[in-house]
Amino acid sequence: HMRVLSGIQPTGRPHWGNYFGAIVQYIALQDAEQAYYFIANLHALTTVRDKQLLSQYSLDAAMDLLALGLDPQKAVLFVQSDVPEVSELCWILLTGTPMGLLERCHAYKDKKAKGLAADAGLFAYPVLQAADILAYDSDTVPVGEDQVQHIEVCRDIAGSFNHQYGEVFVLPKAKVLDSSARVPGTDGEKMSKSYNNTLAVFEAANIQKKQIMRIATDSRPMDDPKDPQSDVLYLLYSLVAPESDREEMADLYRRGGFGYGDVKKKLAEAAEAFFAEARSRREDWQSRPDDVRDILASGAAKARQKAGEVLSRSQEASGLKGY
Ligand code: ATP
Ligand code: MG
Repeated sequence: HMRVLSGIQPTGRPHWGNYFGAIVQYIALQDAEQAYYFIANLHALTTVRDKQLLSQYSLDAAMDLLALGLDPQKAVLFVQSDVPEVSELCWILLTGTPMGLLERCHAYKDKKAKGLAADAGLFAYPVLQAADILAYDSDTVPVGEDQVQHIEVCRDIAGSFNHQYGEVFVLPKAKVLDSSARVPGTDGEKMSKSYNNTLAVFEAANIQKKQIMRIATDSRPMDDPKDPQSDVLYLLYSLVAPESDREEMADLYRRGGFGYGDVKKKLAEAAEAFFAEARSRREDWQSRPDDVRDILASGAAKARQKAGEVLSRSQEASGLKGY
């Protein structure tokens, strides 16, 4: 009996990392006791500062999830800012959160290290994320590896609140898939919407092919035997290829004797076949935006119900209610 929650930021088009690291899990877990999936537009506000773009990306993200198999009859799908209870809960949690805990978080630390100006929203981001998770009594949070630290912060925050006020919050656990915890981008770094190294899930086949053909490979000739697990092309191929083809490709790598160009072609073909169905479902959703808005509205109503209960619990426990 799992209670599942996860979110995706409307900061751009979803990519293979989002899909294989997180969204695959959303779909697999949607039959849990309750699953909540949301479009994290309040989080995205720290990077997308364009009205038109943010609202467009938000509706797009919902269509993307639906096209990828999220079933609104099973899981609750909603937009983060439609549940104001979470922002209220966020404040309560902010008051108990040590600065040092947030200073250690990667997203903020990395930006500072690059000399970029970070705003308070980015600094406090893990606390809002904690509120997102705790508001639904979630015990399971399916994510990619990059989010594991933030779930730990959530546990810390919830634990110290519980220590002070009694057992109010459920402590969640991150759920990460071994095989796709950190999908590499076209440059070998973590694939990320903000790194410009993504392969988008909903991409036209010809554009996708060009992007794949441009992936940088090492200069070692493929004639030399090579460990498939150390090669970006193979890692990407293994995500989209049927099992038997994957085995065959791994053998080719170990034996050596063919070119990266061939691997790229096979990768492009496998990707096209893998995503074809979702891409065509995506077009269907695209033509029914009002149906998507209805799904989001009814999802928000259900989410508010649960988040309201948890918020009240925390308000009563801390003396904000019952004065
Ligand atoms: P941004 O760069 O704006 O943070 P992102 O590409 O990291 O975008 P998010 O919306 O932050 O995407 O993340 C959505 C989910 O996808 C999270 O659970 C995250 O852990 C997962 N995820 C993101 N990138 C990868 C990746 N390369 N491999 C595996 N999982 C990933
Ligand atoms: Mg991210």
